[in-house]
Amino acid sequence: MKMKKVTALLLASLTALAMTACGGTPTAGDNAGGADNSSAESSSEEGSSSEEESSSEENSSPEDNDSSEGNDGSAEGEGAEASGEAEGSEAGTSADGFTTAVEGKLTMATNAAFPPYEYVEGGQIAGIDAEIAAAVAGKLGLELQIDDMEFDSITEAVKSGKADIGLAGMTITPDRQEEVDFTISYATGVQVIIVAEDSPITNVDDLSAEGANYVIGVQRNTTGDIYTTQDIEDAGLGTIDRYSKGADAVQALKTGKVDCVVIDNEPAKAFVNEVEGLKILDTEYITEDYAAAMNKENTALYEAVNNALQELIDDGTIQGILDKYITAE
Ligand code: GLN
Repeated sequence: MKMKKVTALLLASLTALAMTACGGTPTAGDNAGGADNSSAESSSEEGSSSEEESSSEENSSPEDNDSSEGNDGSAEGEGAEASGEAEGSEAGTSADGFTTAVEGKLTMATNAAFPPYEYVEGGQIAGIDAEIAAAVAGKLGLELQIDDMEFDSITEAVKSGKADIGLAGMTITPDRQEEVDFTISYATGVQVIIVAEDSPITNVDDLSAEGANYVIGVQRNTTGDIYTTQDIEDAGLGTIDRYSKGADAVQALKTGKVDCVVIDNEPAKAFVNEVEGLKILDTEYITEDYAAAMNKENTALYEAVNNALQELIDDGTIQGILDKYITAE
């Protein structure tokens, strides 16, 4: 076992409530998640969502996403508010003393290829993170704008101030903490291993066993990439194949280009549901904490977002959103 290097991360996760046994099938594809996110501004009949979450009246719009990846995008016809134009806008200081990238808006950077946390549905970005961000924006009196980008561009967007918040099922890691400040954690993730049903790989130890030489598919720069690179590739025990989307790594597994995929448990379930002949091993690579990434300098906004998140955790809103997308088995 080569788990030493991730011990620090594991320790960092100990405070989190272990959700590892909860399992469940993402209901992303067949629930009303996307529609609930619609703002009153964009579609009035959807504005009065009858769903259970307490923050629905405050939900802001996720429709103005930048359609850079996998997003057919302009269904709402609001291209003028996509990030490209937004850059030229004046940053605004609110009455509460915080500044945002675009006045009156909370700009969220994400990678909408990570169901059920964020995915494109009906031209909009839906999912757990989109709903949480909408609830936070509502508390701050801001309209939510979501910019879709590669996962490894999110930190830079937050660092440069183009985005106010990076929300992407992002794990708190020591290296990332050098670049950004993380809010309190709002969810737990588990790195799991997806294999073909008849795979010789049966548990996490097989990957780093002596003489192992597997090709492991990951999403580039995610923690699955970071851990397997350290534990397996750097140790000369296998090769890592990096893809820009988790779904592409899973396709590579389907076609036999890689021997397994190491990825977060909830997207793993969503992807395995879509592709026949694959399974998720019971064994877990590591448990980790998801949080929002924020600019280190913008402390007033950090405080405001962190406080809003804490309130949304305390009043059960966040749990309600998680439960809506992740059903216990
Ligand atoms: N939790 C993983 C990470 O932070 C994957 C996140 C993602 O792919 N959106 O690296």
